Amino acid sequence: MIKVNSGLIDKIKIDENFNASACFNCGTCSALCPVGFDILPRKLFRYVLLGDEEKILESTDQIFSCLLCRMCEEQCPHEVNITENIRLIRSYLAKSKLGV
Ligand code: SF4
Ligand code: SF4
Repeated sequence: MIKVNSGLIDKIKIDENFNASACFNCGTCSALCPVGFDILPRKLFRYVLLGDEEKILESTDQIFSCLLCRMCEEQCPHEVNITENIRLIRSYLAKSKLGV
């Protein structure tokens, strides 16, 4: 069963550039990612929108391993700010969970 944190999106969306909700889950980004992460970016954005904090925490290593190369972002058909979204999710994790 998913434990939903309904306030998660508001905690992450501290910047107006955060637009994970624009993602329509087409998979283009995942197919292009040179690192080949299963979670990034589309699944990650779903977890944020659903408030599934547990899944995000489980994926911390992958989230911090993204190269921020923007290869995915350049081909995203919905102009999702992928790298900025990932950066904000990292910031949330660093502050609230890792105590950085
Ligand atoms: S390419 Fe853009 S719209 Fe498609 S899954 Fe990735 S982030 Fe979402
Ligand atoms: S920014 Fe680069 S490494 Fe990160 S998810 Fe996109 S393609 Fe993969």
